[in-house]
Amino acid sequence: MWAATTAPRAASSAVRRTSSQQSSGTNAAAAWRPSRRPSAAARPTRALGPAAAAAAAAATDVAPARHQQHAQTQAGERPQGELRFPDSYYDSEGRLVVKNLTLPQLEAWCASIGEDGPKRALQLWRFMYYDCKWIRSLEDAAVERGAQNGFSPAFRAKFAGLATLDGGLLLQSIHSAADGTRKMVFKVAHGPAAGGQVETVLIPITREAGAKARITLCVSSQVGCDMGCQFCYTGRMGLMGNLTAGQIVEQVVAARRLLWEEDVAAGVTKHITPITNLVYMGMGEPLHNLPAVLPSIETLCQPLGLHVSYNKITVSTVGLVPEMRQFAAESRAVMAVSLHATTDEVRDRIVPVNKRWPLAELIGTMEELFPKDKELFPKDKAAPRHGHHVLVAYTMLRDVNDSDEDARRLLDLVKNIRCKVNLIVYNEYPGTPFRPSTPERVQAFRSVLIQGGHVATVRDSRGDDQMAACGQLGDPGLSARPRPARPEAAAAATAAPAAA
Ligand code: SF4
Repeated sequence: MWAATTAPRAASSAVRRTSSQQSSGTNAAAAWRPSRRPSAAARPTRALGPAAAAAAAAATDVAPARHQQHAQTQAGERPQGELRFPDSYYDSEGRLVVKNLTLPQLEAWCASIGEDGPKRALQLWRFMYYDCKWIRSLEDAAVERGAQNGFSPAFRAKFAGLATLDGGLLLQSIHSAADGTRKMVFKVAHGPAAGGQVETVLIPITREAGAKARITLCVSSQVGCDMGCQFCYTGRMGLMGNLTAGQIVEQVVAARRLLWEEDVAAGVTKHITPITNLVYMGMGEPLHNLPAVLPSIETLCQPLGLHVSYNKITVSTVGLVPEMRQFAAESRAVMAVSLHATTDEVRDRIVPVNKRWPLAELIGTMEELFPKDKELFPKDKAAPRHGHHVLVAYTMLRDVNDSDEDARRLLDLVKNIRCKVNLIVYNEYPGTPFRPSTPERVQAFRSVLIQGGHVATVRDSRGDDQMAACGQLGDPGLSARPRPARPEAAAAATAAPAAA
């Protein structure tokens, strides 16, 4: 999928970087210690006093008698009646990966192991997601809050044998582009995509010079992708595996942790750099992994944790019609449909999934889900809960889909849909046979849409010098598919029969 941002290019100076990251150029992983937060001394509001520090040390040595029964669970046996989840929710050691759970699921699981469900779940939740804690283990909580963290030694012992707070992604490197865009590369530790690499992109946004930086975060939902869009690098990898809900959430937690550590290093402790928009447009087709994507959105939007607004989350699809219906019925996040062509002939070639769900079916579904005359604030509580409009993404490929005739056809296709059109400047990668449309052609195409009464924006290329831009994510060494053939120009394709 494709990363979205409306940010101007002049954003690079607005992102704070640690001095070591600045000096290390493209790979700044060494400047960031993923498993450790800054010391308490670096955070005066949470520094431990001598008494608390002494109590913390003492707490590790004492297991009160009333907890000894819980501690015995550590011996290996899982409590009778423990709630079980699908296999993909567990790591390679059989421990439940708690970040795969929504808050109600976590409450139910805590109750099933003999805890006070709502209370214990909320405690874990807040340490994982709330107020700059982002712990990876209960031991991190002890570092954070000493003996006052509320996790008794008995509970920690019991929990260690049953579950883990680790999200299952190991940060390998951070690549910084000249425009301030950064790509975090993770290794997947467990789950269906174990052993693969996944990438997350932080795109800085500044609306004006000197303004505080804000971030659009582009997350991945799969390692590789099965859709095979001909102009996309990720599509050449093929699908290596689905990410779990926890691994999607962990990308956001890792990005927040990184931004927070940089803010602390810069002396800012109160207002960390916010992630303003969150887009599921990294590696993979999100609707091909709905069982993980849907709960991950619920976790991200939970007000007692990461508290992202549904309106600020955009989930992209190339047009998997049944999953679009399911998503619209079950999620309140915004949907973006990647159209990329205005005829079946061209779309069949560059977006192969069009052969399964051709334009007529796709557009019909969009008209049904996002009708232009839709009531914006329905009184009917049972009305669908998804956003009021859909984003239409359209990648501009030179001499393939960028003529004025294409623009007029696009206008006709979306005339009954409440939508905004986002034109994407194509990002080349080594070996691609496609070329980006010229800036003049993009503007001419956009003018046709605007004159037709549609909102149409242009998405700039960001981070392309580090292969961090739209359609460039993935590992060049892992290409499983042959180099694509460039389709003939749309005009030539339609002219050919006549010439023959
Ligand atoms: S192949 Fe298509 S669906 Fe998959 S990541 Fe690329 S553009 Fe998105």
